[in-house]
Amino acid sequence: MTAPQRRRIGIMGGTFDPIHHGHLVAASEVAHLFRLDEVVFVPTGQPWMKEGRKTSAAEDRYLMTVIATASNPRFSVSRVDIERPGLTYTIDTLREMREIYGPDVELYFITGADALAQMLTWRDTDELFRLAHFIGCTRPGHHLADPGLPEGGVSLVEVPALAISSTECRERVRAGEPVWYLVPDGIVQYINKRGLYRDG
Ligand code: ATP
Ligand code: MG
Repeated sequence: MTAPQRRRIGIMGGTFDPIHHGHLVAASEVAHLFRLDEVVFVPTGQPWMKEGRKTSAAEDRYLMTVIATASNPRFSVSRVDIERPGLTYTIDTLREMREIYGPDVELYFITGADALAQMLTWRDTDELFRLAHFIGCTRPGHHLADPGLPEGGVSLVEVPALAISSTECRERVRAGEPVWYLVPDGIVQYINKRGLYRDG
């Protein structure tokens, strides 16, 4: 008799301003490689100045994430980070996910290799690595040089080359250039409907 498999849940944190096909391909690829039962997308909280730029409203980023993931039965979206006041810290996200899903699931935190490299410079990473396995996705132009990864706690995954970033999507919208096929169709329409990214 084989022991029942513990449920395997991926957690994909991000600003998702806007969500794009790089995020979706990364989540899909990791879900396949790690046989995940579900991937939960978790848009970050609001009062965060990212690189000196005001982030779009949490509700817009949340809705875009819902629109982009709606057709995939294994993808869902969580409001935990947008509803927690203050800055978003991964440790809080993971603790809350643990509470929601209980002790009997395996959590896989999916993040870009760039973000992962930054994360490894934090203090108190011990609890992070107890709460979840970390998966760093490499994308074109991002390499993890000598990351000093903790034994068994981190995996690196190469995502099929997709040089898409939210920054580039926003710049294209501002310049009047198309973002069709960089983001899902519903996101192109949502950006237009809400007039996002038109001014600096
Ligand atoms: P920005 O350009 O505003 O920084 P972004 O494209 O990096 O946005 P985020 O919302 O910051 O998007 O990303 C969420 C997570 O997805 C991060 O861990 C990021 O590293 C990762 N990620 C972003 N784009 C890709 C991509 N094309 N392939 C794989 N991972 C990606
Ligand atoms: Mg980024």
